[in-house]
Formats: sequence, C-alpha cells, structure tokens
Amino acid sequence: MIKKILKIALGAFLLLLVILITKTISSNNVLPTYTVENIATVSDSSAQHLSAAIQIKTVSFGDTLAIDTAEFLKFRHFMETTYPTIHQKLTRQSFNQFSYVYKWVGKDTTLAPYVLMGHMDVVPVEAAAEKKWQVPSFSGMIKNDTIWGRGAVDDKVAVISILEATEQLLKENFTPARTIYLCFGHDEEISGKRGTKIYSQWFKDNHIKPALVLDEGGQIDSQHFKGLNKSVALIGTNEKGYTNIDLSVEIPGGHSSMPVPETAIDVLNKAIENIRAHQMPGAITPTVQELLNRTKNGESFMKRLVLSNLWLFNGLVMKGMEKSKETNAMLHTTLVPTIIHAGIKDNVIPSVAKATFNSRILPGQTSDDVVAFVTKAIHDDRVQVKKQTISLMEPSAVTPFDGAAFKKIENIIYKTVPNVIVTPYLMIGATDSRYFRNNSEAVLNFAAAQDMKGFHGIDERIGKSDLNRMISFYKSFIKD
Ligand SMILES: [Zn+2]
Repeated sequence: MIKKILKIALGAFLLLLVILITKTISSNNVLPTYTVENIATVSDSSAQHLSAAIQIKTVSFGDTLAIDTAEFLKFRHFMETTYPTIHQKLTRQSFNQFSYVYKWVGKDTTLAPYVLMGHMDVVPVEAAAEKKWQVPSFSGMIKNDTIWGRGAVDDKVAVISILEATEQLLKENFTPARTIYLCFGHDEEISGKRGTKIYSQWFKDNHIKPALVLDEGGQIDSQHFKGLNKSVALIGTNEKGYTNIDLSVEIPGGHSSMPVPETAIDVLNKAIENIRAHQMPGAITPTVQELLNRTKNGESFMKRLVLSNLWLFNGLVMKGMEKSKETNAMLHTTLVPTIIHAGIKDNVIPSVAKATFNSRILPGQTSDDVVAFVTKAIHDDRVQVKKQTISLMEPSAVTPFDGAAFKKIENIIYKTVPNVIVTPYLMIGATDSRYFRNNSEAVLNFAAAQDMKGFHGIDERIGKSDLNRMISFYKSFIKD
C-alpha cells in the first residue's frame, strides 16, 4: 500500500516537474534583433537652451500658493525667441494664461492626431537643501557634459527636447503625416488642475480623440535588472489611482494636569497604527506580469522557472517583491499618513485630532475599497473616516501592449537605444497625462533618457547624451 502511494506521489512530482520546465522553456522570450540608427549629435545649442530654461524659476510652490507670474511670462518669451520657426508656423492656444497647446497640422487631417506632452513648472528647492547642491540649484550650469539644475529631468528636458525636435524639422520644411499637438502644462507639480485638466477637456469638447498621447513617466532603466546585461525601457501603460482619506477624532479635552485615560490624540494614534499594521491584499496585475515575463531572460534557470509558473509561485514572487518599497508599490494599494493636526497649547488636551492618509490605488481596486479597509482596520466608531473627493482619481485603464501605439513607441526605442528590452510598466506616481485617459485609449509614459538624477531632490541633472537621445527620439516619433 505504502509503495503504491509513494509511486503515485513520485509520478505526480515528475509530472509537475515536466509541466514547470516545459512552461519555462516555452515562455522564453525571443529577443528582437535590430540595428540602432545613427543618432546625429545635436549641436551644443540644445544644451544651452535647456540651461537657459532651467534658469527661469517657473516654480509651483503649493496648491494654495500663488506662482510668480513674471517667471512664467519670461518662460513664454524664452520659448518665442528661442524657437521662432515654431511660433511662425504653428498655432498656439493658451489655457489659464500659462499652459500652451501648439497645433502642427499634418498632411492627412482625417487621421487621429498625436499628442506630445511636457510640463514647464518645477518643484521648489528648500532653503536647507540649497547648500547641499554642488552647483546653485537654478544655475543651469553645464559641467562635465551634464546640465545641472531644478527641472533638468523633471520635466524641462522633455519640453526642450520636443521644441528642439520640432524646430529642427520645421526648418527642414518637414510636415508630419498626421496632426501633432505639442502640449505644455504649467502646474503639473500641483495637480494639473489649472492647466492640463483644462486643455485636455478642450480636446474632448472639440471631439479631438488622440491616437496616442505621450508624456513623462517611464524611462530607460540600467540599474534594477542586473541579471539581464541589458537596459530596460519602461513604458508606462497605466497609472495607479489617487485618493486622500481624512481621519478625525473628537473627544472633549481639558487641562493637561488631569488627563483622561484616552485623549483624541491617543485614539487617532491607535487608528494610524492599526491602518499601518497591514497592507491591503495585493496582486500581480497584468502589466506587472508582462514586465516580469519580458525581463526574466538572463535570470538563473530556477528564477525563470519560478517566474514562468506564477500559477504556482504567485505568493513566493509577491513575497520577494514586497521586500523593496518600489516593487511593493507595484503590488499593493499603499496608504501612508502625510498630514497630522492636533493641539494648540502645551497645557491643553486638544478636543480634536486629525490625520490625512495619502493612498495610491492598485488597478483592480477602488477608492471605496480603500475606505472599507481603513474603516475595518480602525474598528473604532470614535474615528470618522472620510474620502476627499477633490483629488480623487480611480486607477486608470491599461493601454494595450499589443496595440499600435505601444508598438510605435517600442519600434522607436529600438531605433534610438542600443541593447535594450522594452516592457510595459505600471506607473506608481501620477502624471498630467491622466487627464487624457478618458479621451484616448493610448496614453503612454516614456522618456528616452537613461541617466536622470535628482528627481525632486538635490543635484538634479541630465547628461548631454541623454538630451541628444531624447531629441532624436522625438524626431523619430514625429517622422515615423
Ligand atoms: Zn514631472
């Protein structure tokens, strides 16, 4: 009897092994063979132009804080004088004064247009951080073939690269096959509601449905996929949702010399701890699954076996990915307290304590799921839970990986970037392009840069070679 059971067990094990290995071998990716086109070295003036753009302080300070309109006017003047052909040959519309939509009419106006996006505003540099910079933060200094300063990567390099590519092609009297809109927002860093939201609505109101919208987001990653011996071009195909959840506790306060056992702060504190104790249930969504699949070549056989058989090893793979904050954010809705308010005086127990959680919602879940999770985790009627509606954005739809738009970007990457694997990617941060997602099935996020440094931090900078590649990329995009 035991012998028979052992035999069956061994048979089952061998069968499983055959299935696992067959799946591993059959799902091996065939890497494309391709030749990179010669990237013409762009004249040094492009770097000078990016440097000049950085020196104009188009800062978005905060949602309720005013901008320095003189700087934004300066930026407009800079665009007009630096790119005269664009301003001669294309029409420009302004939205809320400082966001612009340029229209470049194509040969065939019956074709759905393309949209190229970038934002001109930047985040501020804190006074405390300024001294840590190697160069003054708005100097736009060009040093060691690198352009330094706030906005060098986020996102003036995109704005300048799009303008450079367009100006150069216009000078060659080039006309694109279909109409192309160049869209530059002025408030991406403070939600895009005054700029991009309004001009993207203009597209909708005028029944202009773009065949492709390309914005910042993904880039060329040469650091996170060590086993591959290749860079990975990450094209953002969908975005996580965004919501803020407000917690509020009201318990009569009093004199701090005679505290009650539980104050409003204590109750709020416990609520925060309970929310943070566990994550919402996660999942390997289709975009992440495709990313794992396309990048598994070069990994060891065992790792490929695991990644090729997610039906069995889903939990194991998730556990591994949950160890890093970046990959964890691709698997889970995240929830983190970002604002907390209580108390006005050291000897008064406050009667109100409030906190705000910022949440990025995983595709497949909704903001209502987040509220339900938070309410259940707190499990205390004294804590009021309320979802903010003003900033709410549910997770976006996915731009298909096998669609024409994705293929177009994929092909241009193969033309302009050597030794690279292209993959879809779930955007864990929000971009301006989300406002187009209800008016286009093909919104993608990608910048053809390899070595962007200092996003929102110190020593923000980009190399001339990246600037060159980005200009070539946009030129190919427009000509393709
Ligand atoms: Zn940005």
